[in-house]
Amino acid sequence: MTRKPWYKNLKHGLMGLAEQAGLFRLVSRRLPRTGQKVYVLAYHRVDRPENRPWLDPAHISASPEAFRAHMRLIANQYHPVGITDVLAAARGEAPLPPDAVLVTVDDGYRDFAEVIYPIVQEYGIQPTLFIPTAFIGGRELFWWDKLYQAVFWSRKESISTPAGTYLVDTPERKRAAVEALLRFVKSQENETALALVDGLYEQAEPPFGAHRSTLTWDELRALSQQGVSIAAHTHTHPILTRVDLDRAYQEMHLSQEMIARHIGTVLPVFAYPDGKIETFNQAIEDALHLEGIEIAFTMMNEQADLERHKLLQLPRIGVWRSMTVPQLHWRLTRF
Ligand SMILES: [Zn+2]
Repeated sequence: MTRKPWYKNLKHGLMGLAEQAGLFRLVSRRLPRTGQKVYVLAYHRVDRPENRPWLDPAHISASPEAFRAHMRLIANQYHPVGITDVLAAARGEAPLPPDAVLVTVDDGYRDFAEVIYPIVQEYGIQPTLFIPTAFIGGRELFWWDKLYQAVFWSRKESISTPAGTYLVDTPERKRAAVEALLRFVKSQENETALALVDGLYEQAEPPFGAHRSTLTWDELRALSQQGVSIAAHTHTHPILTRVDLDRAYQEMHLSQEMIARHIGTVLPVFAYPDGKIETFNQAIEDALHLEGIEIAFTMMNEQADLERHKLLQLPRIGVWRSMTVPQLHWRLTRF
């Protein structure tokens, strides 16, 4: 375990004190409000790592306890909104309330039904779930979970890859290897990236059988009937700038079509896989526009402003396990 430097501990301590003293609330109240801004939070999994040791714990956004604290904060001090409210504001039909927060969850993991939904329901929060439709109900792992298994559950002390050889004899070195390989894989053309990960996964022979990690269409239909908005996150979750434009268009179209077919209705809403600046471009936005998509979410990590941002580039704030409640509160402070 590496110790945090003293100034980080001090910073955490001060943030906790500021939060308790209500300072973030005070700062927020004194800043101007408009009806076109919304904090869009992006969660992935909410779970305990040991519940599903075959999935990369780095994709856990919060423990169930921390997630509950986040939702309590949002319900008590903000105005939770649903995606239809954001759409109405984007169309100029109705402004958003001040301090609007939209909770979104990516990838359709099973803990959405087991952990996330019961908590958001308790606080009257209407979440949006972005799903890569090819993975729904199947036993295929996402490539990042395969990469995690290939490194963390390999019995070898080092692994050689097209990106170099990595020592994987301690948890720290394993995590560093996963991070380096994630960056390398994301820089490759999609099919090359998948082949590389499959190769490492097969070599490692991880000890897990096939598990279903995602929700089924039946579960999604039931969640949709209970008020969860289900929206598209491509079909097979490629980074859209790492496939050709025809394939990118098919990915968007097929995911919209499958949601319409299985859920009965589909929203003109989309979330880019990965969502960083290099994962979308004008040609992709044109294709989304052709598909009838009105708003698309990135991971550009700031408050979304429907006047200032392009509607096909709305930022979301990624939530990760390292984020404390005071840090989240700070991110949601208009400053
Ligand atoms: Zn995703």
